Amino acid sequence: MDVKMHSYHVPDLHEVADVLQKGLANDFAEISAAVVSCPDLTKEPFHLAAEGLGGSPRICDVGGVPYLVPLYNPAKKYNFQEIANLAGVPDGFFVGAAAGPFHVVGSNSELMPNIRCGTSRRNETHYAKITESGGHLMEKVPQDSSDFGLMSNLFLSEGQPGSVLHLSLKRRIGKDNLTAAIRKVLLEAFGPEKPVGLGGVFLIKKGKAKLHIMPDFSTVPLKSDDDVDQWLRYFEFPAPLICLSVMSSCDPGWDLRIDHTHCFSTHGVGGHYHYDTTPEEVEYECFFNVAEKLVRIDQPKETHNIGRD
Ligand SMILES: [Zn+2]
Repeated sequence: MDVKMHSYHVPDLHEVADVLQKGLANDFAEISAAVVSCPDLTKEPFHLAAEGLGGSPRICDVGGVPYLVPLYNPAKKYNFQEIANLAGVPDGFFVGAAAGPFHVVGSNSELMPNIRCGTSRRNETHYAKITESGGHLMEKVPQDSSDFGLMSNLFLSEGQPGSVLHLSLKRRIGKDNLTAAIRKVLLEAFGPEKPVGLGGVFLIKKGKAKLHIMPDFSTVPLKSDDDVDQWLRYFEFPAPLICLSVMSSCDPGWDLRIDHTHCFSTHGVGGHYHYDTTPEEVEYECFFNVAEKLVRIDQPKETHNIGRD
């Protein structure tokens, strides 16, 4: 498989905290940004497959939307262990957003990767799909499945405890969603020559959020953002939502998905995060680390900008 390795600009976490503390003032009414010792993320309320986000932090961008639209490519099946090996972290811990393993689940789905690979393998990955009756469900993938399809945007680390960026944000006063707000602040601070990659987990503690779940694959070609929008199923789901997220401040020609977040919960709902629908009420709590490398795997040869929201 084609693998390209790029280097992010890696600012000190304290510098990132300072930049976000000041820069998010137009987006949230209450902001606390600090560097803290990572709590054990395997515990409530996060339910991750590893304790922390430290050790060889990387973002892996695998495949891409061109393998989904206009029509899906059934040959595009991937495996987290294989991606961990290719990225040089064979015992790596992944969180992020992916398309589900259609060959395992039996249809297209949203995947919430949450898996530790290698000798201490632990799989807490969930998926969400549209059922045959038109409803939705979210549950864990089969324990032995380490697969996904078509595309993924993953934060990879050794899952070690250590220093992380902690953000506590209340009452959204800006128009951007959480990830767009953070990206814009980082781009403003570090500029287009210094791409900064961030990933980890955030909790929507209060309020509701607009999420989508992809239905089964379209049999008619999806040729525009409007076509994709008509095809997707949208929902408003209540907190608490555990959101697995990666983002980059800019794309210096790496063909990136600039941000991507999938959410799961302990109350049976999950999907692809768009934005909270309750700005007055919303509270976010985030634990992030900065990535040192971007690993671009199986980049589509022909690309487009449809369906990247
Ligand atoms: Zn998604």
